Amino acid sequence: MNRSLQQLHSELQKEAAREGIPIFGGFELTARCNLSCKMCYVKQKGADAKPCEQELTARQWIDLGQAAAGQGTLTAFLTGGEPLLRADFQEIYDAFCRMGFRLTLFTNGTLITEEFAKWISKIPPSTVDITLYGASDHTYFNLCGMKDGFQKAIDGMERLLQYGVNVRVKTTIVKTNLQDYKAIKSIAESYHLEFLSNTLIHGNREEGIQKCAELRLSPEEMYQINLDTLDEYDRSPIDFQKRKDWIKNLPPMSCTAGRCAFFINWEGKLTPCPLFVAPYTDPLSCGFPEAWRLLREKINEIPAPVKCKTCDKRVFCPVCPPRLYLETGKFNETSEYLCLIAKTKEQTATRYQYGNKFGKGDHDHEKSISKASH
Ligand code: SF4
Ligand code: SF4
Repeated sequence: MNRSLQQLHSELQKEAAREGIPIFGGFELTARCNLSCKMCYVKQKGADAKPCEQELTARQWIDLGQAAAGQGTLTAFLTGGEPLLRADFQEIYDAFCRMGFRLTLFTNGTLITEEFAKWISKIPPSTVDITLYGASDHTYFNLCGMKDGFQKAIDGMERLLQYGVNVRVKTTIVKTNLQDYKAIKSIAESYHLEFLSNTLIHGNREEGIQKCAELRLSPEEMYQINLDTLDEYDRSPIDFQKRKDWIKNLPPMSCTAGRCAFFINWEGKLTPCPLFVAPYTDPLSCGFPEAWRLLREKINEIPAPVKCKTCDKRVFCPVCPPRLYLETGKFNETSEYLCLIAKTKEQTATRYQYGNKFGKGDHDHEKSISKASH
């Protein structure tokens, strides 16, 4: 994005948040997936599982999309699970396109056939974000339980590119695929594709971090990766002191979630972002406008740990309500892991900022917000 577009985007976002207009929306079309990634936050059932009762029909998704468009939604992402597992995916996608959204499709890429690539190229989304979980079939087998997953994802990506569809490569790095990080990045570079990496996992939404805590990176490993991508951001150095003062006055929910961004999970519940189980409201029973109004009220009631309110490391900390909830089971309890990340980040950022090695700031918190909510 060039600078004037970036500025326009940021002004639009600020104004929408001030006015409570839900300009960014996420639609989780299914919880089913053909991969079984150990760190997944949503997966409920395998690829061969029949759509369960709670899964919404295409008509329901289309009605929700239209209602959101009526409230001002401009950009929408379609996600899962693996959204391409839905037999009616094309019907939903086609309807969302006609609503005029700037669309992004999140997929693992393994189900993209020649026929699908050709079809979507006729009404392409703004981007198809393909998540690569490794750089070999071996890693895919270990992490995602699919022995030829890597080759399938690359084949899917190439099919889209062949038909001129805009693709971005994403990855989530945990211990199991850490050794593949550079190779995944090189793959994106070799195709001249934008690359986005995520290093912070939170576990399954229903269960929290416990079952996959051993998979996640140490803060040192995390920041090695984040420093590696730092010089991709054309940002000016940050005045940490100014940001520390500014951030102290922010409420617990200080990102776009629930202010100008929303997420509708596979059961049709409206939440502020994909990491929340609660609070939620029910647009299927009270309508989207009322559900959005109620959700905005509810997020103001989310408590924060007393310690975070006065913490001078908050500027370095990825703390936010759903992360605390997934870590501790409570909104108002601090998490040892997040505190350690903040401490490591302060040391690293200070070293690089004042050593001026890159001359650029570290924005992965903001990046993760925007990745999660756009
Ligand atoms: S989680 Fe820890 S480091 Fe982060 S703001 Fe709260 S007390 Fe500070
Ligand atoms: S996970 Fe991201 S989008 Fe969700 S509340 Fe936290 S910072 Fe906001």
